[in-house]
Amino acid sequence: MIYVSLISYTPDPERTIATAARVSASPVGATEIKKQLTPQAVDRLLTRLLTSGHLSTFEHASFTFAIEGISRVTSHQLVRHRIASFTQQSQRYVSLKEADYITPATISARPELEAKYHDLARDCHRLYLELLEAGIPAEDARYVLPSAMETRLVMTMNARELLHACSLRLCLRAQWEIVELFELIKAEVEMVAPRLGAELKPKCYRLGYCDEAESCGIFPTAKEVLDEKAKKE
Ligand SMILES: Cc1cc2nc3c(=O)[nH]c(=O)nc-3n(C[C@H](O)[C@H](O)[C@H](O)COP(=O)(O)OP(=O)(O)OC[C@H]3O[C@@H](n4cnc5c(N)ncnc54)[C@H](O)[C@@H]3O)c2cc1C
Repeated sequence: MIYVSLISYTPDPERTIATAARVSASPVGATEIKKQLTPQAVDRLLTRLLTSGHLSTFEHASFTFAIEGISRVTSHQLVRHRIASFTQQSQRYVSLKEADYITPATISARPELEAKYHDLARDCHRLYLELLEAGIPAEDARYVLPSAMETRLVMTMNARELLHACSLRLCLRAQWEIVELFELIKAEVEMVAPRLGAELKPKCYRLGYCDEAESCGIFPTAKEVLDEKAKKE
């Protein structure tokens, strides 16, 4: 099961973003602005920043998550987000004594295939342990482990990158495991920054249409929107 915990974050993240935004057009400094801003003013400012696309101000708030129980398939997708910081448990330095791996629901739903899947995963892990036992370093023995193996990591993202990564990874066209991961990330952010958390959503909500080849059904694709428009003209 995926585990996500927000272990650290910029204190008062939404007020910090709003304060930074106000600095650009204020005769007083950030300390004074931060004190004066009411919750309503913070909310209004965040709305304005989001609708105007003044997103650099969101870089002033950062969030650090402990993430566990994801496969290496998903951690590989996750670390493609370059405007984030990652520290992942090393398979070079940590020997994996247990065969902890992810089983996709599509495979669990097929008992005849699931049995083969588990057999292979356990065989790989057994060979891994045998290699370690024979003195092969963990960094080399790990080559036999499947991408399904569980991993844990710490990830820090600023709020701008969270908006961007969620727009891609909460899209139901992304893979189920990374969608589940980002749903948990969103839930953690919502607890400390509800206004920001509510903005963590798939890109179609901002676009007003689906830019994928096939829509999941929430919004029509760009082509469907154009076809509909052409029909009306
Ligand atoms: C559904 C889905 C399918 C995918 N399939 C594939 C696939 O088949 N193969 C594959 O290789 N990848 C695939 N990816 C990964 C994808 O190509 C991106 O690498 C990943 O989503 C990171 O997104 P990003 O580059 O926009 O953002 P980030 O790395 O998070 O960066 C954020 C933003 O910063 C800016 N930025 C960052 N670095 C640079 C830079 N060097 N130069 C200019 N601007 C920069 C860009 O505006 C970027 O959007 C897939 C992603 C998704 C969501």
